[in-house]
Amino acid sequence: MTIREIVKSSPDGMIAKAFAFSEKAHRGQKRSSGEPYFNHVLQTAQFLHDWHLDEQTVVAGLLHDTVEDTGVATETIEKEFGREVAFLVEGVTKLGRLKYRGAETTKAENLRKMILAISEDLRVVFIKLADRLHNMQTLKALSPQAQRRIALETDEIYASLAYRLGMQHVSGELQDLAFSYLHPKEARWLEAHTLEAYEERTKYLQKIKPDVEELLVQNGIKPLIIDFRAKRLSSLYKKMQRNAMDLDQIFDLVAMRIIVKSTEECYAVLGIIHGAWPPLPGRIKDYIAMPKPNGYRSLHTTIIGPERKAVEFQIRTKEMHEEAETGIAAHWVYKQKEKKSGKTQPSNENINDDLLWVQELRRWQEVYGEQISDPGKFLESMKIDFFKKRIFAITPRGEVIDLPAGATPVDFAYHIHTDVGSGCVGAKVNQRIVPLDHELQSGDMVEIVTQKNKKPSSDWLRFVKTAAAKDKIRSSLRKKHRLMDHEPQRTEFRVVVEDRTGLIKDVSAAIARSHISITHLETNVSPGSRFPVDKVVCDITEKQKIEKLILKLKQIKGVREITYRLI
Ligand code: MN
Repeated sequence: MTIREIVKSSPDGMIAKAFAFSEKAHRGQKRSSGEPYFNHVLQTAQFLHDWHLDEQTVVAGLLHDTVEDTGVATETIEKEFGREVAFLVEGVTKLGRLKYRGAETTKAENLRKMILAISEDLRVVFIKLADRLHNMQTLKALSPQAQRRIALETDEIYASLAYRLGMQHVSGELQDLAFSYLHPKEARWLEAHTLEAYEERTKYLQKIKPDVEELLVQNGIKPLIIDFRAKRLSSLYKKMQRNAMDLDQIFDLVAMRIIVKSTEECYAVLGIIHGAWPPLPGRIKDYIAMPKPNGYRSLHTTIIGPERKAVEFQIRTKEMHEEAETGIAAHWVYKQKEKKSGKTQPSNENINDDLLWVQELRRWQEVYGEQISDPGKFLESMKIDFFKKRIFAITPRGEVIDLPAGATPVDFAYHIHTDVGSGCVGAKVNQRIVPLDHELQSGDMVEIVTQKNKKPSSDWLRFVKTAAAKDKIRSSLRKKHRLMDHEPQRTEFRVVVEDRTGLIKDVSAAIARSHISITHLETNVSPGSRFPVDKVVCDITEKQKIEKLILKLKQIKGVREITYRLI
């Protein structure tokens, strides 16, 4: 069903409401290609629906650009569509602030982790993948620089995330799209040179398909689907590079895919095919008994078929096939259905599968967090909380700063540079001014306001979380104290006078006229000497002021000589 059809068939539903809301919010907005912006969010929502995600995710897909691009407040989304949808939209908005600039500045693995940490809920990742898939399909309209940056980010970050989540199809699609922008020459060459080979292979498979079908039926198996799967250009390119191969050495350029009802039938089909045609040694792969780390399950084999041509077969059940398309999403959907149908006890088989799905995620979790004791629960909630001990904040340039949970803008500032930390006078988080002890969250964009010659405050030691910040604050406080011990605060003037009545009054009047205050005054400090000395202590230390004052004092009748020292 298309989203438009859903809107028509249930005009009072959440999806219809979001459809209208988003269309209105994006009205008049155009994409770089010139088409209405709304097309983009509609297609994003369509992918999410096709991946069998729940209504809230589809609704969030429709709304995913309203906060960032049309200025709708998150509060409005929450009021209209509820907390969960608002949370999903917020997550996508946060992810939108990340920018990947290649492996030199941010490690790809770090960014993948950060995406999961920020998302908190895998459905946010799915929305982002749907968003990215449509953006890649319409990338032509952007500038060459933008194309390259987005294609690189897609290839290294999003395609690989999709793969780890078991979404083979989406991952492959993203890789192929990225490939044509990252290696346009190679892509064109492969396209031109494989076209004939693809056609020839497909023709051949078409020819033998009835034989295969008949063979299976004779052996009591009715396949649900037999079709062909052409190898993707990007993976063909990788394979040829990896093995320095020629095109005619690639057996799986086009593979024959057989989909049957059960796992037992998969193995039966494998036996029947091996009985009819000799298999190539070393090419039989049992991904059902030993699934790939991302959960991919299927049987693969290559046989020498009619006319002595090599043919690859991929044999799987419908469920395995669907999982290969939508990965972890498919699992989650099954879980939801089970819950609704009241089937609370998942079968053993399901639990094993769940373990596989989270295996890859666990590898990340090992470094960052606590154990996931119940993988079933983890999947059910789609919560990603194993990064909860770390937060990932970003600079306005999109660089990822990895900090412990509870870290503040001051920690963030010191992480960037000592001078930024010491000179920190204020901070903005997601464009809003916050106090310096504000607790940062994953995905926050943090801007530090600095002032020259500003010194850190000892107060900061109360709330900073990182050892680096603590050390740096302490060391600059020590410096400050040392300076304070030695830095003069006042100046002591010794005025040699020929004493007369009213002299001291004239001296203090002259000082007052210069807007300098006297902190201490003593007359005739050396009684009995020929020339009495008056001592005046003032609160100035600048040389210029001191000399100016001396000039003034010297004009007073009876003042003979003035010396001074800083105290
Ligand atoms: Mn978007």
